[in-house]
Amino acid sequence: MITKPKGCTDITGNDSLLWQYVNGVVAEMMRNYNYEYIRTPIFEVSELFHRSVGEASDIVKKETYDFIDKGNRNMTLRPEGTAGVVRSYLENKLYASPDTKKYYYNGTMYRYERPQSGRLREFTQFGVEVIGSNDEIIDAEVISLQYRILEALHIGNLQVNINTLGDNESRENYKKALVAYLEPHLNELCDDCKERFKTNPLRILDCKIDSDSEILKNAPKTIDYLNEYSKERFNKVLRYLDLLEIDYEVNPRIVRGLDYYDHTVFEIVSLDDNNASVLGGGGRYNKLIKELGNIDSYGIGFACGIDRIINLLKEMPLYQSIQKEIDCFVMYVSEEEKLHALDIVQNLRLNGVVCETDNLNKGLKGQFKEADRLNSKYLIILNNEDLQKGLVNIKDNATKEEEKVDIDEVVDYIISHL
Ligand code: AMP
Repeated sequence: MITKPKGCTDITGNDSLLWQYVNGVVAEMMRNYNYEYIRTPIFEVSELFHRSVGEASDIVKKETYDFIDKGNRNMTLRPEGTAGVVRSYLENKLYASPDTKKYYYNGTMYRYERPQSGRLREFTQFGVEVIGSNDEIIDAEVISLQYRILEALHIGNLQVNINTLGDNESRENYKKALVAYLEPHLNELCDDCKERFKTNPLRILDCKIDSDSEILKNAPKTIDYLNEYSKERFNKVLRYLDLLEIDYEVNPRIVRGLDYYDHTVFEIVSLDDNNASVLGGGGRYNKLIKELGNIDSYGIGFACGIDRIINLLKEMPLYQSIQKEIDCFVMYVSEEEKLHALDIVQNLRLNGVVCETDNLNKGLKGQFKEADRLNSKYLIILNNEDLQKGLVNIKDNATKEEEKVDIDEVVDYIISHL
């Protein structure tokens, strides 16, 4: 039998109900915050990710799905959403209008990672990108939007871990201090970190292998190397988050793994999550737009992993009873009754009622069972004798009460009883 590729999932059954529910909440909250849906290709020319995410990043060095297409072009399945959105913004000259662009996306990402709990090779992220404003109010909005979406999904004990890398000058000063501090300890770090030391030392702070080492715990903090502007900027973001009542902790270890971040960087976790996995994160990337499009602009975004959210929701009692249900099941036996069933089902559906009827030639007993399996709230039971009088039987499947209803009033009856 052919099976799915390693590190991929099929979303079926109750998981797919949860999936649709999460996507519904995401879409509603994005609308509420006035974010516009954007859809970009699943693959892009490889250079886009090399230039944006960074040659030296783990993602580009080890994890991208690269291929050469039939026209001999180097292509890459997108490992993240920001690069594609910024490319689209530049290519479509969306900067020509002076307003701030607020986009959200929801789609699959691809990283060739070692599959384990919470780490897939194909996974889905929703995220936002706000391009064109450097105002701290946007940093606070983006962080609070991510927080409020997870809160709306009833994920408790949320905590935002926030840090700032500062502007270029602050970041360079910090980099020097970090290099000077780490140099004498190089031999005590993992092989990847030795490499990172040469290519991008900030990433060492992100290392999963060395994460508990005293060396990293005692490393210099970005906050101590900020110039006045960067310090004031960060304080403003925190002040706005206080006003919005977002629980945050300033965590100097958050630097995020990608090349393009400056100023605000953040991750969000739920302290209720036994695996303590990061549900999402993001940051400001003012440099990226210049790097890709040679125009001065500003950007900030976040991405959240839906697969991880679903894993967490499945553990919560609130979601364990989630099940499929329909409003109404229409039952028939003879061919003549079937014609009426077809007509009634269509009328109900056209009026927004979720309904089903038999399609396997089952007897009445089998149809009762099927209606129960679908958790149907109402049963419409047709028989020729009643139909000739223009009547149908409608049964409330919870109270078991049954009524005869005029066939022309079925839709109104069901709608008024739901
Ligand atoms: P990142 O783009 O690495 O900052 O990831 C943002 C979020 O996407 C993470 O917090 C996870 O929820 C999710 N995510 C990242 N990589 C994976 C993966 N390999 N499998 C599942 N979810 C992932």
